[in-house]
Amino acid sequence: MELFWHRRDLRAADNVGLAAATGTGDEGADRGPAAPVFVFDPDVLDHASDVRVRRLLDGLAALREDYRERGSDLLVAGGDPETVLPRLAEALDAERVVWNRDYSGLARERDAGVRRALDAVDVEREAHHDAVLHDPDAIRTNAGDPYSVYSYYWKKWTDRAKDDPAPAPTGGGLVDANRLADAVDAVGGTDASVAVADGGDAETVGALPTPADLGFAEPDAEIGPAGTAAARERLDAFLDEAVFAYEAERDYPAREATSRLSTFLKYGEIGIREAYAATAAAMAEAESDARPDDAPEGVEEFQQQLAWREFYTQVLFHNPEVVTANYKAYEEGIAWRDDPGEIAAWKRGETGYPIVDAGMRQLREEAFMHNRVRMIVASFLTKDLLADWRHGYDHFREHLADHDTANDNGGWQWAASTGTDAQPYFRIFNPMTQGERYDPDAEYITEYVPELRGIDADLIHEWHELLPTQRANAASEYPAPIVDHSERREEALAMYKRARGED
Ligand code: FAD
Repeated sequence: MELFWHRRDLRAADNVGLAAATGTGDEGADRGPAAPVFVFDPDVLDHASDVRVRRLLDGLAALREDYRERGSDLLVAGGDPETVLPRLAEALDAERVVWNRDYSGLARERDAGVRRALDAVDVEREAHHDAVLHDPDAIRTNAGDPYSVYSYYWKKWTDRAKDDPAPAPTGGGLVDANRLADAVDAVGGTDASVAVADGGDAETVGALPTPADLGFAEPDAEIGPAGTAAARERLDAFLDEAVFAYEAERDYPAREATSRLSTFLKYGEIGIREAYAATAAAMAEAESDARPDDAPEGVEEFQQQLAWREFYTQVLFHNPEVVTANYKAYEEGIAWRDDPGEIAAWKRGETGYPIVDAGMRQLREEAFMHNRVRMIVASFLTKDLLADWRHGYDHFREHLADHDTANDNGGWQWAASTGTDAQPYFRIFNPMTQGERYDPDAEYITEYVPELRGIDADLIHEWHELLPTQRANAASEYPAPIVDHSERREEALAMYKRARGED
């Protein structure tokens, strides 16, 4: 028997490590059967949020269902993996523990500890590349360095051959549910759940825990569906039609023009090889006569976003310190203004800049925000409020269901002009013209800012120029702009120049 340790890969299909452990991968039929396990790690939970715990539990419920349909089950345990995994391996008589690599700094430290703990009890262990199409070390410059400029990275990324999806476990690859139940009984658990406390004492728990069991609250935000079936449905629907117009439409937040796959990808509920193979099939269709001439550009633009995800994964892998530090070290000298009242108004979505407020409220309501609007609110926080991007990153980390350390950090440092291949510091978004260009009829704005419903879109886009009486007549409940964009733009330029020693 082998143990397969699920982490950010809550799926049975197209799972490289699981395919190996169950003998359905390249390693062949002399492997397996495997018992899948998820461990609630208190250190990971320390960094979690209400939204992400809810979403994780939904993903685990879907995964467990999937295993049950395959005649097996998902073991669930709690405690430090360094203690839990060797103990489980011993109790279940597993010869090997297998997992897929996680590339962030904290995860790598944890995995090193687990490796040592398994070595100490002579249990084999094996880690696979799975989360990205090209692992973080695979694509380097001709001089052998990691890439810091996306366009060059993309050229190599797109030219490389891509692996096919890994086969899903079949037949005897998974430990049968009955055998698993017997083994769990032997450890002292029921319902295919085992709790292994830090001290090593096994105690019984019921089914999956609730957020409260883990010390979290039910979030207010409405979080979308979880699991592989829902991810596939989303991907299929997107590749059926929207992808062909993706390049032209993706920046308009009121249109349903993007895939909304990010949360599924974050929890690994769909494999990246499977998703990419589906885009390759869509490309073949885009190139046929059945689709408009610019359809292939839509598909390629979408593949480019998948490559951004891999670009930021390798940035974090090679520079784990960027989680808290600016990638560009000289930007550490930026004297952020950090006004607590302004930052609080930004978080509440009450800045008096309609597109910014709509985005911040979408975040609270849906645990999601459209990409164009993420860029706008991030620019506003850093370059209109002159607040440190880390305030924004922490807020996103708390409220986004798709929060992913690499992508979130990459997005924030891009907007703050402190990251790899970032927006130049002197290019500052104007929140009013951004709103006018990308939400011309104010449909997105009024969906999330009810105070502005029924008001002419032109007035909404001129909100900052209106007289106080005009604003009061139009929407007395909605705030006046808390800052003057033109003034703050000048202050931001001066702030960056000072930090760069250019004043
Ligand atoms: P689509 O447009 O359909 O793109 C498909 C997939 O490509 C996404 O699901 C995502 O996995 C990937 N992708 C798209 N854009 C990017 C990008 N710029 N960088 C990296 N990967 C990308 N994305 C996250 O997944 N998690 C985050 O925590 C996150 N934080 C962000 C913070 C800021 C300040 C900014 C500007 C962007 C952030 N992004 C983040 C990137 C992007 O906004 C989201 O991936 C996207 O909005 C998700 O919607 P979608 O799935 O419909 O995307």
